[in-house]
Amino acid sequence: MTVVGHLINGEMRTDAARTQAIFNPSTGEESKQVALASVATVEEAIAAAEQAFPAWRNTPPAKRAQVMFRFKTLLEENSAKICEMIGEEHGKISHDAAGELQRGIENVEYACGAPELLKGEHSRNVGPGIDSWSEFQPLGVVAGITPFNFPAMVPLWMYPMAIVCGNTFILKPSERDPSSTLFIAQLLQEAGLPKGVINVVNGDKEAVDVLLTDSRVKAVSFVGSTPIAEYIYSTANANGKRCQALGGAKNHAIVMQDADMDNAVNQLLGAAFGSSGERCMALSVAVAVGDEAADTLVAKMKAAMAPLKVGAFSNSDNDFGPVITRAHQLKVNGFIDSAEADGATIVVDGRNPVVEGYDDGFFVGATLIDGVTPTMESYQAEIFGPVLQIVRVNTMEEAMKLINDHEYGNGTCIFTRDGEAARYFSDNIQVGMVGINVPLPVPVAYHSFGGWKRSLFGDLHAYGPDAVRFYTKRKTITQRWPSSGVREGVSFAFPS
Ligand code: NAD
Repeated sequence: MTVVGHLINGEMRTDAARTQAIFNPSTGEESKQVALASVATVEEAIAAAEQAFPAWRNTPPAKRAQVMFRFKTLLEENSAKICEMIGEEHGKISHDAAGELQRGIENVEYACGAPELLKGEHSRNVGPGIDSWSEFQPLGVVAGITPFNFPAMVPLWMYPMAIVCGNTFILKPSERDPSSTLFIAQLLQEAGLPKGVINVVNGDKEAVDVLLTDSRVKAVSFVGSTPIAEYIYSTANANGKRCQALGGAKNHAIVMQDADMDNAVNQLLGAAFGSSGERCMALSVAVAVGDEAADTLVAKMKAAMAPLKVGAFSNSDNDFGPVITRAHQLKVNGFIDSAEADGATIVVDGRNPVVEGYDDGFFVGATLIDGVTPTMESYQAEIFGPVLQIVRVNTMEEAMKLINDHEYGNGTCIFTRDGEAARYFSDNIQVGMVGINVPLPVPVAYHSFGGWKRSLFGDLHAYGPDAVRFYTKRKTITQRWPSSGVREGVSFAFPS
């Protein structure tokens, strides 16, 4: 059976004392094994990255950017193959995988602007004959640890910018669907990157803990669930590293009575059930303001959900595919069970759907639950499945309080035709990414991505302008070249 290995110092390696199964979620079959890196293997990758750093740091930004231009071309040329690899291990349908890849490529395009992005700040004559400037220097070896749900896009949020800023990189992808991630890193190598600048180690907690504690690693970017994000952030900080750790979510959409209801329903369908709800920006709660809005929304959603098709990744007629593992399928079903036990109404039940020819796939059908209340476990937890819960409230203030009181603050959206209400909402809601009639307000590559509250630990958001700050440190130089023959007296006063 194929073993997915590591990319270290430009070489592919499959050595591993430990391995773990990778499944095709559409069939439920084990398809490959992934090597789980030992401490020694990760240390080797760190050594390779450290060795590559001095030369890469001194490579002109324009030359570094040229590698990214070639990388973008290779990604586009190989897009069909990448989407197939994502589908086999994640379960995404090709149209969804293509969207993820395109969003990743946009981050590579942003990284192509490195010479402009890395320009410093200069002030002439800050004092008599004195000039001062700030420049942004790379950190050294940096690491990224990524989740299963965007095996192409989330790693591309990280290493193109880190590398183009002059750092060398070690990526630890999700062990559940590592093949596309590894293949994409090989394409970057092929684009002309010197050996050791990008390294990929597959593995689990053992590998991650080396990256968190080894003093040669200067910064860590993490994307994954909140409990692990919190662990990563505190451990990296305790070991003196810069860290940004993006966590989980529970994204609410407010549906106002005045909304264009048909449009809201269409938007909610894609945002709640696309990618089986396995998106950190998925809308998983619709807060209907007023019973009239709620009744209309539930009736229209129920009708619109009837033709939705869950099925294998290989059939592009399907709307969405399976969830990632059998354990996760059972967990999502368990949340639907608990909502029912807590008194909510299962309007559309996606538990155990029949998918002809794929009896053992990890499928959950689109599910709609009405009458959910904030005390229910299914409301509080991130379900990460194709489940939309309806909460009924009487006022917009009540809806906003619900969102502001939730532990997560990743994304949110309001559906309304009222500009004043929309403006008040975006101004006051305690969430990092806000949509006005836009269900998945994922910022484009030249803005930055990040939630608030327990959806992000750290100060700087992912990709975009914040990535330049995260992957560099500022140095400010003050310079004077005294005119020949001028002697200055001694002064003990603070220079002013
Ligand atoms: P996860 O937290 O289980 O795993 C993420 C990474 O952490 C993986 O590489 C995994 O190997 C590693 N990891 C897991 N357990 C660990 C441990 N005990 N110690 C050290 N490392 C460990 O997340 P997942 O299930 O792969 O991804 C889904 C989660 O990611 C969801 O909660 C989702 O909301 C979140 N997510 C967030 C964003 C965001 O931008 N905020 C984006 C995508 C996904």
